[in-house]
Amino acid sequence: MNFCVNCGHTTTDKIPLGDQQLRKVCTTCGYIHYINPKIICGALVVWENKVLLCRRAIEPRYGLWTLPAGYMELFETMEQGAARETREEAEAEIEIEQLYCMYNIPRIGQIYVLFKSTLLNGKFGAGEETIESQLFEEENIPWTELAFPSVEQTLRHYFEDRKTHHFPMHLETLGTRLDHTG
Ligand code: ZN
Repeated sequence: MNFCVNCGHTTTDKIPLGDQQLRKVCTTCGYIHYINPKIICGALVVWENKVLLCRRAIEPRYGLWTLPAGYMELFETMEQGAARETREEAEAEIEIEQLYCMYNIPRIGQIYVLFKSTLLNGKFGAGEETIESQLFEEENIPWTELAFPSVEQTLRHYFEDRKTHHFPMHLETLGTRLDHTG
């Protein structure tokens, strides 16, 4: 952010009055360019004891398996974001059951919010960002080909919680032990 989004002049690194962080501040109009964490909404989609995974047709992690998830848009709720991403990436309609996993990933400024949900009518496909979608039984999960630690963590929680039919919300911070990029 070397140029001001407000007036187009150059910015400089500066701690604004009353702030504690370095920000890009416009040298001409004084506009402060705040950068805040991004929210990623997604769904753990379940159908007849199986979970829906999508193989990524985009970088990063091209060809690896992920849960349908993506950046939350303005003017939508997190649930709508999760349903929209599932529609876009897996061409599937879901019913959201509950908030299930939240991950802080402070190193890259992201918050993941994943909803446990049910696939409606059993239908799914592959959107533009997806090579293929597939329903997996626990024993067939491609553990070594998962795109992100948040995906692995969510699946591990699900299969563990499923043993007791009790699905508490999991709030965790990733990125200290687990490497997470992208
Ligand atoms: Zn400016």
